[in-house]
Amino acid sequence: MKVGILGGGQLGRMLLQAAANYTVETFVLENDANCPSAHLCNHFTKGNITDFEDVYNFGKNLDAITIEIEAVNIEALEQLEKEGVKIFPNPAAIRIIKNKITQKQFYKDNEIPSSDFSITQQKSEISNYMHLLPAVHKIAEGGYDGKGVQIVNTTSDIEKGFDAPSVLEKKVAIKKEIAIIVAMNEKGNAALYPISEMMVNPVLNLLDYQISPALLPQKVVWVVEAIAIKLVKALKSPGLFAIELFVDVNDDVWVNETAPRVHNSGHHTIEGNHCSQYDMLWRIILNYPLGNTTPILPAAIINIIGEEGFNGTPYYEGLEEVLSIDNAFVHLYGKLQTKPGRKMGHVTVLHSSYQDLNYKANKIKHLFKIKSV
Ligand code: ADP
Repeated sequence: MKVGILGGGQLGRMLLQAAANYTVETFVLENDANCPSAHLCNHFTKGNITDFEDVYNFGKNLDAITIEIEAVNIEALEQLEKEGVKIFPNPAAIRIIKNKITQKQFYKDNEIPSSDFSITQQKSEISNYMHLLPAVHKIAEGGYDGKGVQIVNTTSDIEKGFDAPSVLEKKVAIKKEIAIIVAMNEKGNAALYPISEMMVNPVLNLLDYQISPALLPQKVVWVVEAIAIKLVKALKSPGLFAIELFVDVNDDVWVNETAPRVHNSGHHTIEGNHCSQYDMLWRIILNYPLGNTTPILPAAIINIIGEEGFNGTPYYEGLEEVLSIDNAFVHLYGKLQTKPGRKMGHVTVLHSSYQDLNYKANKIKHLFKIKSV
């Protein structure tokens, strides 16, 4: 079977690593010939994943296509779908999720709890929706890793908003940021991964480290699982979905956003769960039975990001010490250049005790630094 991946970043790289267990011929479309996936696929095509012709020409002789990022040309995927290429997830689901306005509207239409919101075209319109403040202003398309997000607590913050189609949503009084991955096959069978809990670095607005399974009251777990299943069923598409949610100070649960693809919050499933999210997506694409999502041991993921003040060829300080830690698994993405804040890899560590897990995650965070040579 010929399967294409749109995007050649680190998620695509891990998907390709998992493909080695199956008889599948892999194709990658990506602009950067030195991307993390280029040397792991069977066929690399240099091209723009947002361009109709590039995506269409890439896909027309394939059996199936999946994505590692949602900023892709949907029209080309719709055309390919009409011509019989299977797309995971289907283009209609990607279309809903790709734009934060249609995504929020989808939650509202399907009675999926997500914070109250209004749509703005210009930041000056924020003053029409004072009842939503304190709020978060989010650009509808093109934002990532918190870059298209501004907090608007009072009228004096309105200037920080966006002069582009955006969502203004009520700020949630967050107790925990969590994520859950849901797999859905073509028959409509679903499998849920255990919930993960994020620890966010407030300075870089990037994930500091993550723990899974999250430590939550059982009642909250049931609510999260019920919301996750309802959401994925409403999308009416096979595929793998990562849903980010907030647990607020009253233990109420709100959906933040959904990614229709393998996700950073599921990196630990490679070593931490019987079936990884990457293996699971192949099972869905190849129409095999869903895998076992049970955790082997509690896991932490530590993101390895480029150190402040270092640009150029990466030097991995502390690599040997980290590799000598029991049950620590280093994943480097093979990026040729480091720069401050760039995701260069991650480490997964497993331990039966949460206390030891947190201790090891912090130790790895402080030991392992990406500098330049
Ligand atoms: P991105 O898609 O760029 O990752 P998110 O929508 O996930 O952006 O928002 C980034 C961060 O901003 C979240 O992880 C959370 O900390 C904060 N945030 C987003 N929406 C809200 C909200 N409604 N209430 C409170 N904090 C929010």
